[in-house]
Order: sequence, then structure tokens, then C-alpha cells
Amino acid sequence: MAADLLETTVLATYPLTPSVHQLVLRADGHTFDHTPGQHVSVRYESDDGRPVYRPYSPVNGPGTDRLVLAVKRYDGGTCSVWLHERSVGDPVPLMPPSGNLHLRDSGRDVVFLATGTGLTPMLAMLGQYLTAGAGRAVLLYGERTPADLMYRSMLDRLSASHSSLSVEYVLSDASWEGRTGYVQDHLDAALDMVVDPHVYVCGVPEMVVDTQDALQTAGIPDEHIFSEGWEQGAVDE
Ligand SMILES: Cc1cc2nc3c(=O)[nH]c(=O)nc-3n(C[C@H](O)[C@H](O)[C@H](O)COP(=O)(O)OP(=O)(O)OC[C@H]3O[C@@H](n4cnc5c(N)ncnc54)[C@H](O)[C@@H]3O)c2cc1C
Repeated sequence: MAADLLETTVLATYPLTPSVHQLVLRADGHTFDHTPGQHVSVRYESDDGRPVYRPYSPVNGPGTDRLVLAVKRYDGGTCSVWLHERSVGDPVPLMPPSGNLHLRDSGRDVVFLATGTGLTPMLAMLGQYLTAGAGRAVLLYGERTPADLMYRSMLDRLSASHSSLSVEYVLSDASWEGRTGYVQDHLDAALDMVVDPHVYVCGVPEMVVDTQDALQTAGIPDEHIFSEGWEQGAVDE
């Protein structure tokens, strides 16, 4: 067993959407000290006894014994299916937080661009920005249908109570009356709401690459773009 493996226990599980479950994990006697945007690696044992590790980004910030994960289930997947089958009281071992996605400068405007469960690190960073940030924040969040939107009521409440925050949903479902298509199609509108921003991008690798290209075309310097790509097909599978 890896020396720094941390034992956690499922405190609660909750369906956020038809395919995404929220899991609240508690590590007794431990205080999580992650930087918002970082991920932990969940350890799952495969049928032949081999350890398998998968990264998940907590949506909550540090300072408590709890981590809140939002996990999308992939049929035929390994760890995502295992996590969806966990019940209250079950152990979930994980490696401590790591990773380089984090808020660089809370003194300037920010744009968070996410598709699918790429939203998770953005929520953690958005929470930090709303506490410590000094500028405007725009969250551009892409999914397929309204039913796929995670944390919608919380995001709507946040944007209603913070005049410095705009939350823009972009759905590929054509019957939606709001923004439709891909998040990249709405970059200009998001960039119009801010001044000289840092831009954070997380989602399917293709979206991340396309978005980086579009941001460069829009004049955002490379060093102001911070990204993480992880899921194949989270929006368009
Ligand atoms: C830094 C980082 C942070 C992450 N944070 C989160 C998070 O907060 N929430 C979250 O839900 N996920 C997150 N992921 C993705 C997560 O780590 C796993 O890749 C995902 O849960 C699938 O793992 P699995 O073991 O179930 O599938 P695997 O066993 O790896 O794959 C088995 C089969 O499942 C299917 N499958 C697996 N993944 C996908 C996919 N992405 N798209 C389509 N089919 C797939 C395929 O058929 C594949 O052949 C993150 C990834 C990274 C790199």
C-alpha cells in the first residue's frame, strides 16, 4: 500500500444529474489543505487485485475533513462505476491532492470555461475567487441538455448574489432558449464582459485545444491561459 494513501469514508452520495453523482468523503482526523483546482487520485482495486488510480477534482475548498467529488459514470468504466456503487460508510482510499491547475491572480478579471465534469475544478476556483477576488468573473459552462447541468441552482444563486459574477450556460441541445452550440462559439461574448483576464479551461481535450486556439485568435496571451483536459466525449459521446 502506498505510504501516503489517505483513508476516507463515504459520508453522503447524491445524484446531481442522470449520470453524475456527488460523493462527500470524510477523512477522520485529517484537514484537507489542497489548493482549489487541484485533484486527488482515488485508488480502486481491479478484479485481478491490481491497484488502479483515477484523478478527481474536489468541488469544495480546503480547511475541513471533507472532500466533495462530482463523478460522471461511464458504462464500461472502472473507477467511475466503482464510485457510483459506493454507499454511506464505504471506504474510499485516495492519494493526497496534487496538480497545477489553480487560481494564479485573484486581483484580475477571470473567465472560467468548462464542459462536462470539467466544471469541478472551476467550481473550487470560483468559490475561492468569490471570497478573495477583486474583479469580474465569468463562468461559461457547456453541457448537452438542461438535465445534464450540474449545480445549476447553486450557480444561479451565486450569480444572483454576486454582481461581479456572470454564469452563462451553453447547451448543444437546440431546443434550449439560452446559448447553444459549443462554449468556443461564445468566447467573444464572455471576453466582452471582462478586462485583460486570466482564462481557465477544463473539459474534453478537443474542447481545450480548440478553445486555446480561439483564445489566442482573440488576443489572449498564452501565459494568461491555464488549462486541463481530461475526458473523451464528456459532452458529445
Ligand atoms: C486531473 C483530472 C481530474 C479529473 N476530475 C474528474 C472529476 O472531477 N469528475 C469526473 O467525473 N471525472 C474526472 N476526471 C476523469 C476521471 O479521472 C476518469 O478518467 C473517469 O472517471 C473514467 O475513469 P474509469 O476508471 O471509470 O474509466 P476507464 O476504466 O479508464 O475506462 C474504461 C472504458 O470506459 C469508457 N470511458 C472511460 N472514460 C471515458 C470518457 N472520459 N469518455 C468516454 N468514455 C470513457 C471507455 O469505454 C473506456 O474504454 C478527471 C481526470 C483528470 C485527468
